[in-house]
Amino acid sequence: MKNLLTQRPRGTADILPQESARWQDIERTVRELCRLYGYQEIRTPIFEHTELFARGVGETTDIVEKEMYTFEDRGGRSVTLRPEGTASVVRAFVENKLYGLSDVVKLYYIGPMFRYEKPQKGRLRQLHQFGCEVFAAPGPDVDAEVIALNVEMLTRAGLQGVKVELNSVGCSVCRPQHRAQMLAKLTPLKDQLCTDCQRRLERNPMRIFDCKNESCQRVLAASEAPTILQSLCEDCQNHFSGVQNLLRTAGISFEINSHLVRGLDYYTRTAWECVLPGYSSVAGGGRYNGLVAEAGGPETPGIGFAVGLDRLLMILLEQQRETFVRAGLEVFVAVADVLAQGYSMEILQELRAAGIAADKDYLGRGLKAQLKSADRRGATYTVIVGERELANETVGLKNLSTGSQLELPRAALVGYLQNGGDKQ
Ligand SMILES: [Zn+2]
Ligand SMILES: [Zn+2]
Repeated sequence: MKNLLTQRPRGTADILPQESARWQDIERTVRELCRLYGYQEIRTPIFEHTELFARGVGETTDIVEKEMYTFEDRGGRSVTLRPEGTASVVRAFVENKLYGLSDVVKLYYIGPMFRYEKPQKGRLRQLHQFGCEVFAAPGPDVDAEVIALNVEMLTRAGLQGVKVELNSVGCSVCRPQHRAQMLAKLTPLKDQLCTDCQRRLERNPMRIFDCKNESCQRVLAASEAPTILQSLCEDCQNHFSGVQNLLRTAGISFEINSHLVRGLDYYTRTAWECVLPGYSSVAGGGRYNGLVAEAGGPETPGIGFAVGLDRLLMILLEQQRETFVRAGLEVFVAVADVLAQGYSMEILQELRAAGIAADKDYLGRGLKAQLKSADRRGATYTVIVGERELANETVGLKNLSTGSQLELPRAALVGYLQNGGDKQ
């Protein structure tokens, strides 16, 4: 029998200290990039009313049909741990009347999501996503900018060779026509589709393009059902060519993939995925012009994307392609004599107050063991204080990578380190 006290739930992960540094790095990268692009952070609750996701994500999606963590709270209300970020952000946009700002609203979020999926490598039940949403900007220029931001984020994280696959999934004008065409072509072949696709045929036939079953794809090809690209209305066509032209201008390469419909029901017009050779999709997004109105707000266009961070970090680790700069311990203060204990405390506080990461030994070990510990912690310098340093108001300073050593007046220590130490 499993010991439930010493085993975490399936599909969850502990992010251990050596790994959390990588998480912090990527979070820093994301936040800085969002600042450059004019986005502000939004933090929504981890759980919401179940109806929000059922309506907002789409009742025919895998997420809503199979993957939600839904439960009754003690008041008998059905609540769900958020499986994705967009529905909550849209709800917050409407509830807090952010549309009243009568300007474009650019938001980003970063945090855990929950999906009851079959756990596998890089796919967890508690996953972490970074995502962006832009409201009230209808033109293709914002589509191109959001796609550019998505690519830039992956590139800055260290991925190379990211490609964009692009499609348009139409609008409330051209989708009903496309749907009718698909029904006409596929209804006679319904028996040959998988059970998921049989249901999709009635509710959202476009999603059959998304089915991973090869047999369904064969039926689809044989049916000669049109892709949505072949059925776009004029406005959607113009929007789509606008996006493509702007992407070319921005130097972002892309390929059209007319089968790309994404797993979510709410997309309109532009849909895209960022793919990497050998890994398929690493991020994706789309426009969702009807979602805000459906959530009870005024007619407001929206567009956004999300990146799965667990998977991104796993790929970076496999490719050993991180560009992050690791920020570790800068100074280890070693105490050579118990009399200097208080003196070392003062120095530690001075260093930390000056923004220098500093630590010490807490186990009363000998100097040799302390120096070993400093090395293991990856400190750049060791400050050594003993009886003599205490009497003279000085410190011994050792550079752990070069081995060079010198003695400094205590009052000069912070200034010396802030000016680059012995690199100056
Ligand atoms: Zn259209
Ligand atoms: Zn199928």
